[in-house]
Amino acid sequence: MTSISARPLHSPRTKFVFVTGGVVSSLGKGVAAASLGAALKARGLQVNMLKLDPYINVDPGTMSPIQHGEVFVTRDGAETDLDLGHYERFVGRQMTRRNNFTTGQIYESVIRKERNGEYQGRTVQVIPDVTNEIKRFIQMALSPQDDVAIVEIGGTVGDIESLPFLEAVRQMRLERPREDACFVHVTLLPYVEAAGEQKTKPTQRSVRDLREIGVDPDLILCRVRHGMTEEHRRKIALFGNLREDEVFAAPDVKCLYELPLMNAEAGVDRAVCERLHLQTPPPDLSEWENLRRQLRAISGETRVAMVGKYVSLTDSYKSLTEAMEHAGIRRATRVALDYVDSERINEENAARHLEKYDAILIPGGFGTRGVEGKIAAAGYARRSGTPYLGICVGMQAAVIEFARNRAGLENANSAEFAPDTPHPVVGLLEEWMSGGGAKKSRDRSGKIGGTLRLGDGECRLSGKLRGIYGADTVVERHRHRYEFNNNYRARLEAAGMVFSAESPDGLAEAVELPEHCWFVGCQFHPEFTSRPLGGHPLFESFVAAARAARESR
Ligand code: GLN
Repeated sequence: MTSISARPLHSPRTKFVFVTGGVVSSLGKGVAAASLGAALKARGLQVNMLKLDPYINVDPGTMSPIQHGEVFVTRDGAETDLDLGHYERFVGRQMTRRNNFTTGQIYESVIRKERNGEYQGRTVQVIPDVTNEIKRFIQMALSPQDDVAIVEIGGTVGDIESLPFLEAVRQMRLERPREDACFVHVTLLPYVEAAGEQKTKPTQRSVRDLREIGVDPDLILCRVRHGMTEEHRRKIALFGNLREDEVFAAPDVKCLYELPLMNAEAGVDRAVCERLHLQTPPPDLSEWENLRRQLRAISGETRVAMVGKYVSLTDSYKSLTEAMEHAGIRRATRVALDYVDSERINEENAARHLEKYDAILIPGGFGTRGVEGKIAAAGYARRSGTPYLGICVGMQAAVIEFARNRAGLENANSAEFAPDTPHPVVGLLEEWMSGGGAKKSRDRSGKIGGTLRLGDGECRLSGKLRGIYGADTVVERHRHRYEFNNNYRARLEAAGMVFSAESPDGLAEAVELPEHCWFVGCQFHPEFTSRPLGGHPLFESFVAAARAARESR
């Protein structure tokens, strides 16, 4: 056994946990990997996390949030898979663009090398060239101090797309001592209603598929609705060529943040450490235990309307729904988020749709569809004194509404939604800086101009916001293309809007209405940095205001 303290500080020998998925997608593999990471971290290990995505897209940022769930933005401005959000939330470590890569990126890199003549005329093949590139990308994401890297392979075993990834990690296991890699297979025991029982056959098959390509799982985590019988465990162990204590049940949970404790109670992290010959102290889970206590102390419910476009898939706003949950836990209230389709809302019916809620939340979004509904919702919140948090396009909606109805700027809009607006209160930076009209927002090739502002940016705070954060400056993450048009700032200020956060170069980062009990619009995305252990001041304050609104009804 290697003791962690005895290992050299700059060990080049990070150990690997490879996580694969069987039977179906959307098993919660990312959450399983992340919560295992949390339990390993609680043992004093430095844990890194990677997600390998088998799809061909080079840029996950351009994928539809309806199909693929939220685009998670890292501090260095990468648009990545939403599982990186789970990694950050559970392991508390900030991810970078290196922690997530796709087949498309691997092939792009291989083809670029081939074009540069780096293969010197050799035939370029999946094995070894693509697999070598995958291994190189994995190594690039590691820091020498990482004790363990958990590498999640997206997709389901048996998919054609994931084969090169599985082959690469199979080789990685062979290339290093046996105790340096551990394979965890997360699979499903479907419950067959008609038979009234859980079935192990699909899991047996997926383990067989995995072994056929040369990967023997060390541990199997079975996603189950409730528990798993001993007989099922025996069967899976037998067919999976494992001991019974290497098969674990991973039941559905009410709150994801109980998982690090449940992992530890089931002994998953202990089994991983045994496999990897890592000798550590027992996990210190006091912070997670504290969180569980807070969860149990929750009483009452706060109802929040989330007015947005992608309301059909809850994963589209994963970080945001998690951030609201963190805030609820810290404020001892269950936050019930109702998704309200902004396309159904207009000025006339806004009250009817929204009056039953304690607060209104508008998440970020792109495109024109449903935007007038968001503007109407912001107006309703302003007039009715309902707590309002508008994120990114939610801030822009609030600004547009205020410009139209309080600052007398008729037909004010964002150049994104109405290129012909007489008052582009939001527009592309290069246009309003140069004094140009909104019409120029497309260049001659028809492409939309302006680059996305992505990732970390400093915000200088004033107003109520400074009190909420308890700081003069904060760093928040961004993902937007259009900026508040500073040419209108004095006009809106005169009408009573306060610009309470600013970037160092003077761009508006947040607005608030001092007359209102709680009305904040922020250009940045605070949801990406909210954590279950620690929360986020803006969401906490918002949920507290919502709770107060409910209590004073
Ligand atoms: N569509 C807006 C922009 O590009 C807002 C983006 C967002 O809400 N993430 O500026």
